[in-house]
Amino acid sequence: MSKQVIVIGAGIVGASIAWHLAKAGAEVTVIADSSAGGVATPNSFAWINASWGNPEPYFRLRTFAMAEWTRLAQDLPGIPLQWCGGLCWDLPPAKLEAYAAEHSAWGYGIERVGNQRAALIEPNLAESPDLALYVAEEGVAEPVAASQALLADAERRGARIITGKAVTGLVQSGGKVTGVEMPGERLAADEVVIAAGAGAPAIAATAGIDVPIETPPGLIAHSRPYRKLLNGLVLAERLHMRQTAQGRIIAGSDFGGADPGMDAEATARDLFAATKAMLRGADGLELDFHTVGYRPTPIDGFPIIGRAEGVPGLYVAVMHSGITLAPVVGLFATREILDGERDPLLAPYGLERFGS
Ligand SMILES: Cc1cc2nc3c(=O)[nH]c(=O)nc-3n(C[C@H](O)[C@H](O)[C@H](O)COP(=O)(O)OP(=O)(O)OC[C@H]3O[C@@H](n4cnc5c(N)ncnc54)[C@H](O)[C@@H]3O)c2cc1C
Repeated sequence: MSKQVIVIGAGIVGASIAWHLAKAGAEVTVIADSSAGGVATPNSFAWINASWGNPEPYFRLRTFAMAEWTRLAQDLPGIPLQWCGGLCWDLPPAKLEAYAAEHSAWGYGIERVGNQRAALIEPNLAESPDLALYVAEEGVAEPVAASQALLADAERRGARIITGKAVTGLVQSGGKVTGVEMPGERLAADEVVIAAGAGAPAIAATAGIDVPIETPPGLIAHSRPYRKLLNGLVLAERLHMRQTAQGRIIAGSDFGGADPGMDAEATARDLFAATKAMLRGADGLELDFHTVGYRPTPIDGFPIIGRAEGVPGLYVAVMHSGITLAPVVGLFATREILDGERDPLLAPYGLERFGS
């Protein structure tokens, strides 16, 4: 008999887990108090990368995830994935060189580029950097469309998708999680997956489990759709930008978004002015709106993916970099939930690392 699994969350993480479970034959129910597409997910910059600042084990998980995006897009051709490349010079030259040396040794496809090559990669930059690193294998998955494609295909494979409904607690019986509680209703399952982003700690707490995360805000400015100005991701000092599939230039002071400050509107206007100044041919580019997303970030910065020790029937998947990691989380969580196999790449990311 197939396993019944409830996935709480319809963002990119829940959508990927639900799709992989449904594809593997589980009987899946997704429950979310948002619409299909999630909460942090629609506000993401959505850069798929294994770029600087990560220790090697995390780099390995991220590069595995990047390869898995290609596999996912082959399995599900509706996934809006583009390997558009990333041009990066958001570190001082010495740190940029150190990042290039370290990650090249790990096998990351980094090209060291000067002014002229940078201008060929992104011809509409008002000023090309003297030294930048170009990674052709970095890319973007439009996050809401990707989540919706995964959920729609999961539904086609028999999953039930319930949106606009909150889970108020986990149901436990005999020391095991056996389902979820919603206002006026209980649903039973063999396994419950918490893929609820910033909502995860409150749900886990109902079973006495601590999921230690922070939720820093990140502001992204969005232009109106415009003619093609950018070929890929531009990660300049204090300004990261890309052009979406709809033609919008989106920008943050960092890919994780700018600090909105006291006046988010003013922050968005300043950011947009800086973005416009960096681009040639952007005279008619107009600010349309800004978003402020709250990044579900475990307190040590690394993902939480795995079972809650001592509480059978429960799996937790909460992370920043959820866009990069989504395919691998779906794949590995499904193997662990259905077959009891934990991939060694997940070893550092259990909830137990935070203690009881
Ligand atoms: C500004 C910004 C920039 C980012 N840039 C990048 C980037 O460049 N690259 C990258 O890889 N990552 C990036 N991230 C991070 C990435 O977007 C997130 O890690 C990812 O979207 C998290 O997905 P999720 O599905 O876990 O959460 P969410 O999208 O937040 O979804 C959570 C789901 O859980 C549901 N939920 C919560 N509580 C309950 C409840 N009690 N009952 C029912 N449903 C519930 C919600 O309704 C929602 O459906 C960025 C994030 C932000 C905000």
